[in-house]
Amino acid sequence: MTTGALFEDRHTDARMRQTIPQFARLGALTVAVTAPFATDSTRGRLALAGLALAAVAIAQLVSWRNRVDRLSHDAVFVLLLAYCVLIALAVTVTGDANSPYGLLYVIPTVFTAVFFTGWVRYAIAVAAPLINYAIVGQFLDVAPGDQPIRLCLFLLVAHFGAAVAGTLREALRANTALHSVLEASTGNPLDADLAGIGIDAALSVAGWDAGGVVVTEGDRIAIPAVRGISPELARLYTERPLESAAAVIVRPVIGGGGTAEFEDLAEFVGADHPLVVEGIVSLAALPVAYHGAVIGALLVGHRQHRRLDDRERDRLVRVCEQLGLALGSASAYRQETEVAENLRELNRRKDEFLANISHELRTPAATIKLVAATLRSSADRLDADQLAEMYGTLERRSDHLSELIGDLLDEAVADAGETRLAIGPIDWNDAVRRWAEIVTLQTDREVTLSLPPKPVTGAGDAVKLERVVVNLLSNAAKFSPPETAIELRLSGGANPDGIVEVAVVDHGIGIAADQLDRIFDRFHQVDGGSTRVAGGFGLGLSLARHFVEAHGGTLTVESVPGEGSTFLVRVPRSAASVPRLAG
Ligand code: ADP
Repeated sequence: MTTGALFEDRHTDARMRQTIPQFARLGALTVAVTAPFATDSTRGRLALAGLALAAVAIAQLVSWRNRVDRLSHDAVFVLLLAYCVLIALAVTVTGDANSPYGLLYVIPTVFTAVFFTGWVRYAIAVAAPLINYAIVGQFLDVAPGDQPIRLCLFLLVAHFGAAVAGTLREALRANTALHSVLEASTGNPLDADLAGIGIDAALSVAGWDAGGVVVTEGDRIAIPAVRGISPELARLYTERPLESAAAVIVRPVIGGGGTAEFEDLAEFVGADHPLVVEGIVSLAALPVAYHGAVIGALLVGHRQHRRLDDRERDRLVRVCEQLGLALGSASAYRQETEVAENLRELNRRKDEFLANISHELRTPAATIKLVAATLRSSADRLDADQLAEMYGTLERRSDHLSELIGDLLDEAVADAGETRLAIGPIDWNDAVRRWAEIVTLQTDREVTLSLPPKPVTGAGDAVKLERVVVNLLSNAAKFSPPETAIELRLSGGANPDGIVEVAVVDHGIGIAADQLDRIFDRFHQVDGGSTRVAGGFGLGLSLARHFVEAHGGTLTVESVPGEGSTFLVRVPRSAASVPRLAG
């Protein structure tokens, strides 16, 4: 025996079951109240009262401690049969085969029609006249011709009950399906999960065979989920959505925002299209929108020639509305989380930066102060070498200090989007040599030069480009052991519009793959925080990339952890300033 989907919902099922004893009690009460009028005999009245009492007792027993909720469907059916027997007995007691008590058969008939599905829905409608005939016919004169009439009437009542229950079930299923889409969108679900639930809802409310959801982001098309097609085709669609002809089908829907229907899909996409080969004959695509903007489409496919009827279209439109809300808010939630995450990270780096800055500025300042104090108190006792060493230290430390302050100022200017380049002629061979010397002076590290035989000349902001390359060379020195080589290679610029390439190569600690992009972020330091060994603000690379891009060039890095890094500056030979480049 089967129950319908209406009662798969636990709550509805429980409510429905509880009404069975309620109606049984009411029926019994009616018999008890009307007993004095139903018969002239006192015995008859007592018998009716006894029957009513029996019915109330059974109803009470069944509903006691929610037992009715736990009854199997077979048991419910047997109870309804027992109810029919009690009614037949009541009719018999009245002594009138056509007693109005016979109307009470409507209660079990309707219950069965509503509560059960399949042929069982009509079982009581058939059983009631038989039970009536079998029991009442034993004692009273029953006109045999009445029974077919009763049977037809009961079948009619059962059919009405079944139709009402069917509509209710469908509405409930549609509602549950719609609800499931929205419910799924809370939390942080994946598009694939939401799309899957959306398709299930669509297929359940429209009764089509296959479905898919297409989501767009700019030019990109994604198919997060499909249903009702072979796993191979499903994989093709979800992994390589653009190659699937779904893209062709949904483009007009996404562009125009209307529904597209293909009653004969083969006519539109050709008989060799994978969907057609899989047996999908008709297809409909409906737009999925979020806040008025189309963000994708819902596709449903049928294995027979079909068009959406009004009811299916209405329901699918509602699924699309919920799906749009779910997908849109999930994506907004993801974006917000990402922004919040980025802000948190930036904040953390700024905190680190503030802690860093005092240390970085104080160290050279303290050294300068110490050397100046030594010079003032004991300059006359120092020999020429010691003096030269001290002046050298003063020079190096104040250079470092002004470099740090320069970085901070440049960063502020870049941040405001006000970087201006002072473009002038550059002799790259000369410049590269000079930059190498600067770094050797600052860090005591040799820089191996590799220059093209012919001089490379061009235009650019020599000061900014020096900052870039000197910064890269200083980093190379900072992040590689002293005994390893630092290389500076100049190449390119063979033709007038060529690109000049400057590569800074070290054989140091290298950079992990997941850090390669992030080292260009402001304040980002791979070993930032308390574990940091090398100095710096974490601004150098961000500024370097900014200056290179202001020249219309690129700054990239390749690195193998433990083996070293290569930073590559590429700028057009005759760079023109790119005005107001945001920081
Ligand atoms: P900093 O002033 O801290 O050096 P940068 O912006 O110049 O700031 O560099 C950011 C981070 O990138 C550095 O802190 C370091 O972790 C990493 N990095 C930069 N250059 C190299 C390199 N040549 N080898 C290894 N790590 C490097």
